[in-house]
Amino acid sequence: MADLKRIAICGFNLESNRFAPSCARPDFEENMYFQGDEISRQARLETPAIHLGVKGFYAVMDAAFGGVEGWRAAPAVIVGSTPAGPVEEVFFKEFLQELRERLQAIGPVDGVYLCQHGAAVATHTHDPDGDMFALVRGIVGPDVPVIATLDLHANVSEVMMDTTDMLIGYRTNPHVDMYERGEEAARAMLEVFAGVRPEKFRIRLPLVAPSVTQLTAEGYPYGDLIRLGQTRIGEAVMNVTILSGFAFGDTPKNGMTVITHTRGDPALARRVTTELAEAGWADRQRYRTAMISLVDATARAKTVGADGTAEPLLFADPADNPGGGGRGNTTYILKSFLDAGVEGCVLSVFFDKAAVAVAVAAGVGARIKVTLNAEEDTEFSDPLAVEARVVSLHDGRFVGHYGMVAGTTGDTGATAVLDLGGVTVICISKRQQCRSSDYISAFGIDPAACRSIVVKSRGHFRAGFQHLFPAERILEIDVPGLTSPNLANFDWRYLPRPVFPLDPDAAWESS
Ligand SMILES: [Zn+2]
Repeated sequence: MADLKRIAICGFNLESNRFAPSCARPDFEENMYFQGDEISRQARLETPAIHLGVKGFYAVMDAAFGGVEGWRAAPAVIVGSTPAGPVEEVFFKEFLQELRERLQAIGPVDGVYLCQHGAAVATHTHDPDGDMFALVRGIVGPDVPVIATLDLHANVSEVMMDTTDMLIGYRTNPHVDMYERGEEAARAMLEVFAGVRPEKFRIRLPLVAPSVTQLTAEGYPYGDLIRLGQTRIGEAVMNVTILSGFAFGDTPKNGMTVITHTRGDPALARRVTTELAEAGWADRQRYRTAMISLVDATARAKTVGADGTAEPLLFADPADNPGGGGRGNTTYILKSFLDAGVEGCVLSVFFDKAAVAVAVAAGVGARIKVTLNAEEDTEFSDPLAVEARVVSLHDGRFVGHYGMVAGTTGDTGATAVLDLGGVTVICISKRQQCRSSDYISAFGIDPAACRSIVVKSRGHFRAGFQHLFPAERILEIDVPGLTSPNLANFDWRYLPRPVFPLDPDAAWESS
């Protein structure tokens, strides 16, 4: 049995918004913190709580080696937080220490799968992802294949490039291909086991576009570029990864990144990457936002609320997206809708642990007076005093059916449905974005019966609402927040300048 392939599994998943409050151990333990054999158990569950990339990776390996006993998964540690600010130095170093000890205990391996986000920053460094990759490479040595999957919002450093054999990015935004990219990582590793030597080349463009413009649906420039890249896949080209990056990381490594992996042909990797980078740069003027004003949005919500025959509308608040480090609790839209007397609206979801506690103490059916954001002091998260009826209370656990949460178990923590009169607010205790209509139906409300819905999300919700709302009935509202698509609102400190579109005259030429 000594020749069974042993593959270490690990990962650190955080998208850091430089302008948001820092995060530490509790943020990871609340969201995803799996160690040792629990990783393998999760990976083989029907609806796991672990990252779906791990599930995809295991599925391919189990099939390739004739079952669970045909290879040796060597699971170390995989963690993830809801997007937040920089990770605190003390916790990150503790995590690295745990990873080091676990990898040393595992001993020699034949490969490493890194299930990574790739856009973390730490309070002490711009590149914690690179630190982790370097640690892994240092332990396993130069000859063991190290293959990572990355979120397409990853900001890739030189260290991340130099310490890995392949960096395989998601190709969909909203991200509905995590499972498939985990599968792809496994298939690539099998090729390396069979003797293929991946060669990669990357170019980083001075292009840091607002996240709302980086969708991959038809008609969006980023989607067009990714699809162009996929036409180059073939016998020689293994993988084309094009990462839009995450603006709010505000790091020197920001910028849209093209990486081509070939089967042993470095010149071809360079050629394909250059061609795609040139195409992406030539298309840069198309990365434009299309938001409407709060006044306009309020009027439209009022109209559909009053007219039962009008088509329902879905409003997004991209500036307060927990998926980008937002707190998920600003009240600009809620206050405007309440003041205007909007009817038939559901806001899903609003993060306010203290408000949920008030509702739980009062019980279902009670009328309460509560101040939203009473215990929150982050910029933009203003308090708002409201009166509400407690419609229902929930433990927050549900199985998702749509979009990115399909086939996974969701958990919003203790959850209260509050009727504020015209606007119903689904109040949660675990900060996260509304990624699908499951975040409404799980709490006893029929999403198809709402006159309007407000989500605090930049774009991931689209995959989970497309069965109810065509794109033309989805409207993004321009309000302040930690994740505002108006990039000029921010005090950038570390972005490489000049960079498009912040600096409209930014120039780039392939060398
Ligand atoms: Zn992402």
